[in-house]
Amino acid sequence: MEITVLGFWGAYPWNKEGTSSYLLKSSGFSLLIDAGSGTFNMLRETIEPLELDAVIISHYHHDHIADLGVLQYYRQLNQPEGHAELPIYGHTEHEFYFDALTMPKVSKGIPYEERTPITIGPFTVGFLRTRHPVPCFAMRITETSTGKNFVYTADSGYLNKFTDFIEGTNLLIADSYFLNGNEDNPVHFTAKEVGEMAKNGGVPKVLLSHLQQEIHLSLLKSQAEEAAGTGVDVLLAETGLTIVL
Ligand SMILES: [Zn+2]
Ligand SMILES: [Zn+2]
Repeated sequence: MEITVLGFWGAYPWNKEGTSSYLLKSSGFSLLIDAGSGTFNMLRETIEPLELDAVIISHYHHDHIADLGVLQYYRQLNQPEGHAELPIYGHTEHEFYFDALTMPKVSKGIPYEERTPITIGPFTVGFLRTRHPVPCFAMRITETSTGKNFVYTADSGYLNKFTDFIEGTNLLIADSYFLNGNEDNPVHFTAKEVGEMAKNGGVPKVLLSHLQQEIHLSLLKSQAEEAAGTGVDVLLAETGLTIVL
């Protein structure tokens, strides 16, 4: 499978680059994970949006859903008559936002819940409720045919149960919003927490994402590397970066 970063900033887009969004592909199936602000253009440069097979949303903060509505408009205005509705997976704990996933003839909201892994095309997706001010779910996404998998933390502060959730995964895409010194924050991880989590979970590769605009990213990377120790490959997210697992 192949994961492409379409946007990686936290909270708001910056320097013409967008907030959280990733395109996952396997066996001709394309799954969009979150639809952050300013990422629709990047999505269109990567794939014809009519060819998207499904979308999954971690939570309903604007930096994860801002471009979902315009994706629905694009499909509404450009899809041929009788085109299949786009399945958009989301949790149901915010009824207003869940209901907006459905647009007649264009898209259909499909609920997920923490306890029940789901199948989306060639993938199996398991969930973990994160530590965040609103209901938010991390995902462990497995390519069913190969068993390869990765974990996307979505947005979260430090949480012990992540250690089990990420154990043995091939890649950790982690909310790395804070430099060291902000540990145990209830909203986002720090570099150190991400690095330690990867080390404890035996994860070989970490992608630092959901980045903060006002900090030195090279420092963030070196702090994560120091905490992770040798044997963990630490990468900074950038638009268009593709990781093949
Ligand atoms: Zn966010
Ligand atoms: Zn959030």
